[in-house]
Amino acid sequence: MQIENKTICNICLKPSDAEANTVYIKAICNDEEIHVCTGCIPHIIHGSGDIVKSNETVKAQI
Ligand SMILES: [Zn+2]
Repeated sequence: MQIENKTICNICLKPSDAEANTVYIKAICNDEEIHVCTGCIPHIIHGSGDIVKSNETVKAQI
């Protein structure tokens, strides 16, 4: 998700300012726009959306 010009991974909560050049993929989960960093993409490709945190959960945990 995006907060204050930062992108945060909806799975591992990695913020875009932690490391340069991290790529985030924008996706939809439960009709909500989410972002997933490249490190977490295999988990959703080979698994399911169960590990995706909702934007509300991300906001509460960061
Ligand atoms: Zn991630």
